[in-house]
Amino acid sequence: MLAAAGSGERLGADRPKAFARLGDRPLLAESLERLDGSDWIDEIVIAAPPGWEEPAILLAEELGCGKVSSCVTGGATRTDSVRTALAEVPESAVVVLVHDAARPLVGDEVIERILAPLSEGWDGAIPGLPLADTLKRVDAERVVETVDRSGLVAVQTPQAFAAPVLRKAFEGDVAAASDCSSLVEERGGRVRVVEGDPRLLKVTTAGDLDVVAALLAS
Ligand code: C5P
Repeated sequence: MLAAAGSGERLGADRPKAFARLGDRPLLAESLERLDGSDWIDEIVIAAPPGWEEPAILLAEELGCGKVSSCVTGGATRTDSVRTALAEVPESAVVVLVHDAARPLVGDEVIERILAPLSEGWDGAIPGLPLADTLKRVDAERVVETVDRSGLVAVQTPQAFAAPVLRKAFEGDVAAASDCSSLVEERGGRVRVVEGDPRLLKVTTAGDLDVVAALLAS
């Protein structure tokens, strides 16, 4: 499933982030085409921003992305968007991959790395990268604490889960969470971290779009 319903306010564009231009096409095109082209993916559900469902479907058609089975209207938070999209995932699905359209450069290597632990009995697997910078906890501008970096990773998407575990994690009242793994963890799910991919950087600002465009061209 592809979470693409964010407004992308920090990008400062006149349209939602998924439709901001990356080169000569919408940002969404990159992750959509890559997921559709992966042998590991059978079906794709897109969560689009309200009012952008049709452009998302047209884009998928234009790109020949035949694995897109539905496109839902995203909600106010990422958690809402994923919940709505999850309801469209067929009951027969064994594994669900959740990916953010904001991370365009998704590749098969990382998909293989997150899928492997699921066949070993893990409930979920997520890509993570070690942190390079020193971390500080701050109160407004004042440094309160230097956080011990050991044992911390920066987590990316795609994230893979056993389908029943993910469905359970989204049952009932679920507080907004910045990723799906945290909801699975809260319910006692066993989630494994695998090696992430530095190319999976997340587009937040206009400058990030330039960096991704440069990576694409390299
Ligand atoms: O806003 P942020 O970049 O952290 O969002 C991460 C991902 O979640 C993006 O791909 C965005 O499109 C998606 N999202 C969503 N629905 C929301 C908010 C974010 O699908 N309401």
